[in-house]
Amino acid sequence: MSLKTAEDMRWHDTERLGEDDKKILRHPSDALAWKTFDERHRDFALDPRSVRLGLASDGFNPYRLMNTTYSTWPVMLIPYNLPPWLCMKPSSFILSTLIPGKPSPGNDIDVYLQPLVHELKLLWTGVEAFDAFEGKKFNLRAALLWTINDFPGYAMLSGLSTKGYNECPICIDSTPSDRFGNKICYCSYRKWLPSDHPYRIQGEKFCEKYGTNERGKAPSRPSGTDILSEQEKVEYVYGKSKAPQKKRQRGDNDNNDVQHESAFGTKRSIFFDLVYWEHNLLRHNLDVMHIEKNVSKNILGTLLSMDKSRDSRDDRKALEKWRIKPHLWLSTNPNGSEYMPPASYSMSTEEKERFLNVLQKLKVPDGYGSNLSSCVNMKQKKLINLKSHDNHVLMQDILPVALRASNSTKLIDLLAGLSSFFKRLCSTTIDPDDLDDLQDGIILTLCKLEIEFPPSFFTIMVHLLIHLVEEVKLGGPVRYRWMYPIERYLSHLKSYVTNKAQPEGSIAEGFLLEETIRFCSRYLEGVKTIFNIPTRMDDEISNSNDYLFNTGGRVVGKEVTIRLDDKSLKQAHRYVLLHSDAIKGDMDEFLMEKPQMNSQSSATESDESNWIINEFGGWLQNKVHCIDATTEDEKLRKSLAGGLYCYGRKLKGFIINGFKFLSMDRDCRLLTQNYGIMVEADGEAYFGKVMDIYELNYYRAYKVVLFRCNWVDIHRGVRTYPNGDVCVNFSKLMHTGRLLQDDPFIFSSQAKQVFYIEDEIQIGWLHVVKNKPRDLFDLGDSLPVEVEGEAILDTFKLDWSKKCWRKASSELDDYAVGNSAKFYPFYQGITTS
Ligand SMILES: [Zn+2]
Repeated sequence: MSLKTAEDMRWHDTERLGEDDKKILRHPSDALAWKTFDERHRDFALDPRSVRLGLASDGFNPYRLMNTTYSTWPVMLIPYNLPPWLCMKPSSFILSTLIPGKPSPGNDIDVYLQPLVHELKLLWTGVEAFDAFEGKKFNLRAALLWTINDFPGYAMLSGLSTKGYNECPICIDSTPSDRFGNKICYCSYRKWLPSDHPYRIQGEKFCEKYGTNERGKAPSRPSGTDILSEQEKVEYVYGKSKAPQKKRQRGDNDNNDVQHESAFGTKRSIFFDLVYWEHNLLRHNLDVMHIEKNVSKNILGTLLSMDKSRDSRDDRKALEKWRIKPHLWLSTNPNGSEYMPPASYSMSTEEKERFLNVLQKLKVPDGYGSNLSSCVNMKQKKLINLKSHDNHVLMQDILPVALRASNSTKLIDLLAGLSSFFKRLCSTTIDPDDLDDLQDGIILTLCKLEIEFPPSFFTIMVHLLIHLVEEVKLGGPVRYRWMYPIERYLSHLKSYVTNKAQPEGSIAEGFLLEETIRFCSRYLEGVKTIFNIPTRMDDEISNSNDYLFNTGGRVVGKEVTIRLDDKSLKQAHRYVLLHSDAIKGDMDEFLMEKPQMNSQSSATESDESNWIINEFGGWLQNKVHCIDATTEDEKLRKSLAGGLYCYGRKLKGFIINGFKFLSMDRDCRLLTQNYGIMVEADGEAYFGKVMDIYELNYYRAYKVVLFRCNWVDIHRGVRTYPNGDVCVNFSKLMHTGRLLQDDPFIFSSQAKQVFYIEDEIQIGWLHVVKNKPRDLFDLGDSLPVEVEGEAILDTFKLDWSKKCWRKASSELDDYAVGNSAKFYPFYQGITTS
């Protein structure tokens, strides 16, 4: 048990923002399910140390590819009291149960969960524990908020059916479903539209049998009490599912086994044994990771007519049976053979080629994702071996841009709408006021997809999109409730399996060993352990205070000493002067005096710019000459007046703001693209390429890191599409540095990263994709906690810098900073004993 962890466990209560900022969803504690829970159980909520837990479970095959039927099910608990940067880290997970294979436990998982549920019941009333932070004993309580699971896991944990016509566990018996050919499809998104929406009476366009109009209402989410009362009627005998089943006869209806279970599932979920469970607003999470992956597979399969295509000959025949979309029915050639008429989403061979070409040439920033070009199979015109995360980056950013860059389908805007839905849904901070807008948007997008695609496209995964916004409202940002961290952890557990005869034993032993090592590391300070290796984008440096404007970061690659030419020196110096608050008063005074000295009545902008470049330095030097630089401010003014030293360092690469930037000459030889840069100033976005990175200094007193960039002319070189996507052309530049008044430089700390995707048709134009920093958490404006190294942010005139970013340490590199014992779950002894 450690002091630091005990303190962190109160984070959700103590280190939160002012009332204004509290509205924004940043952590599960900001969302409705948590707040309602607190209101209902006031005595529990009174103590911030009461632990809120999430339960995650998923099966995996510890033999990797050696034995395809084996499935081990670990059950993990996630303590949500911890701050965002610790909460979803493997070091915070508690491996509470390990259910051995060979078959997956299925609905019998409840039998294995009994000890855990028993402990949860104990923890609800409370057990005695010692609070190391306060140094007192207290009654520790804990409650389970929800479970995290993939779709098959949803059925096992909730007892609801995720098969057949009632597959949606939220709509349950009102799931809009129908048999289409030999598939079940889930359409009727018009039910969610307002009752007077024109789409409702345009039946012939949509995927409704015989083109009927829609008068139905959207089903609502059933309460826990409703589900419990239905599930209590079901009699389920544990262990029965393992009995050998009667061999299915040919011609039997597929859904025979579905029909003898109630619409509300197969069993009463064991979690209803917890007294509070029935009233939890969000009991089981729909996993956005798997939904996104399946939707992406659906789209790519259908567009590129791959194996996962939802548009086959049988589907076209079924369309004719349903009497909808006659333009897609199978037609006959003059020679008597049947063919599928092209649909709006079909791509011709050249279009496929162009689209795949874009993906093959794609270079993304370091750490953004895997190399997608290796998934392109040009010969078969296919994408192969796409992993979950590849589908994630495709859906979030790349798919719409790649489609636009290759101009290969008519549905670009529609698919871009779907992509922006995923992007907004998965963002780390969400304004709840935007959520209704997001929900309306996805309803409309789904309706439009229904107009274009056949019913077979609408699998259950597409249907689930309609429920995701509501789950964000209830549970907060998606990143605390999806399977990515869990899946990563499972693959880590897999690495423990050294004895193939006893995989579970190996995992348990490996987990205990790592826990022990981690525990010891908490008390080692100043020692380099395997845990405190800096993260990939770590930009912490010890002397960050020497750098003006927070421009300090980690240097990557070679550095050489150079002498900067006079013009560049003046431009760089002017840029620093214009952004420096310390001499703002002096500059105002100078600009007031100057016209009088020249006996001018007024001054133009270019006059002022010239004066600042040529005369302000000297004027300031005279003024500050006699001050003796006792305060930090005076020291800074004196240094700035001295001007930039002409020798500096030229760097190849630089890590700052969670991004890695490399200069053009270094980057063009790599498989990644790290030179794309964007700054926002005066409400305008400027796009460029990093040409050189300089570290300059003010006579060794202060340092400043500047990027010299090629900037695209915002008038001639930028095109913006109606949905906000941007396209730029680097043959049209501005601020090239040729003129003295040009501004080719920016501070490293102002830089945001973008990457460019070449257009296949309009040569020279590049499509812009914005990159997000890794491991940074936006905690709003009014941080009550002191965060190192962000005091100078306010000196920027740029809008974005008002955002207060807090660096997330990699899970264990805090040891390097000297905080011992930060991550040890302080109730460890109770839940694993
Ligand atoms: Zn539903």
